[in-house]
Amino acid sequence: MNVHHAPNPVGTARPAEPTGSPAHAPAPLPRVRAEVDLAAVRDNVRALRGLARGGAGVMAVVKADAYGHGMLPCARAARRAGADWLATATPEEALAVRAAGDTGPLLCWLWTPGGPWAEALAADIDVSVGGAWALREVIGAVHAAGRPARVQLKADTGLGRGGCAPADWPALVTAARAAEAEGLLRVTGVWSHLACADEPGHPSIPPQLEAFRVALAEAERAGLRPEVRHLANSPAALTLPGTHYDLIRPGLAVYGLSPAPELGLPREHGLRPAMTLRAALAGVKRVPGGHGVGYGHHYVTPGETTLALVPAGYADGVPRHASGAGPVLVAGKWRTIAGRVAMDQFVVDLGGDPAEPGDEAVLFGPGDDGEPTAEDWARACGTIGYEIVTRIGARVPRIHLNDD
Ligand SMILES: *Cc1c(COP(=O)(O)O)cnc(C)c1O
Repeated sequence: MNVHHAPNPVGTARPAEPTGSPAHAPAPLPRVRAEVDLAAVRDNVRALRGLARGGAGVMAVVKADAYGHGMLPCARAARRAGADWLATATPEEALAVRAAGDTGPLLCWLWTPGGPWAEALAADIDVSVGGAWALREVIGAVHAAGRPARVQLKADTGLGRGGCAPADWPALVTAARAAEAEGLLRVTGVWSHLACADEPGHPSIPPQLEAFRVALAEAERAGLRPEVRHLANSPAALTLPGTHYDLIRPGLAVYGLSPAPELGLPREHGLRPAMTLRAALAGVKRVPGGHGVGYGHHYVTPGETTLALVPAGYADGVPRHASGAGPVLVAGKWRTIAGRVAMDQFVVDLGGDPAEPGDEAVLFGPGDDGEPTAEDWARACGTIGYEIVTRIGARVPRIHLNDD
């Protein structure tokens, strides 16, 4: 354990059961909260370690506040379960991991000119370099950092996003090797990212693998001897063992979601969704038939019924695209959002079933207790599970359970 979560440094408190409450009387449910089961995060990391081919390690991606799950507790849980590496997108995220006490291997890749290179090098963070400008900036920061840089060179093997284009790669590896020979840096890794690993059999996959082989061979020819070569995001980690190299680099799977319905359910990969999003009903009332509901009256009650008010809206990350579509477990049944999602709240029609203010609404979770899953929400909103969990708003407290 080397990440410390400031409010809970020894990892023993149970936020869900404040001291002073009798164990049999659960604390009242706050307006809305995201419970994150850290035992699931640990089990998912262990499952990923188990499926990594040929002794490949695991680089757990904790960017974007661990896909909305809370970066520092998830980083610590991942390390405890044996994640060899952690990775973030931005240097600010990586510096926050270091500030919390983590000392293990750590990579960040999303740099812009003038970024905090010297701070990152001084904090022993591996930095990704995907172009000549970035290599110049790293070399420029070495003196201020007071130590050689640890650099991972990123090749664009066909994603067409970050990374060095094949035409520029030979010059980049040559320049990096020259800087290494001068003692300015060490090239610790060579890596790339897949475009379509979540689409089984996609024709872009074999050419990307071949482009990666070529990029590795050119790095080798330039005299580089990287410690780690890595390519596999979650879908590749789960379904393409030929991409595993020295490390798999999963994000979503760490949090227990499947990257795409075509790749199967989480449990088919030994994964368990870590997040459950719950709310307390803010009101329940009887209304007559023909009653408009919410902005624009896009829902009109078909008859006399009971409406329940769920105090979570798009400010909390409930997509407005879930209007008239998002599933919610209330009073023992799946309900569908009635009318539009507003900034802070939405309504469900209970069809005359009774409920009380304060009763629980479960928007999504692992699905074990009949609640919808993040994948159900993704389908209802025309998006992906990644976006459903990652966009949960800053206003929603994350309650970390099982931080053992
Ligand atoms: C986000 C990201 C990952 C993790 O992707 P998942 O599909 O969530 O596993 C890996 N590598 C890079 C470069 C990323 O941006």
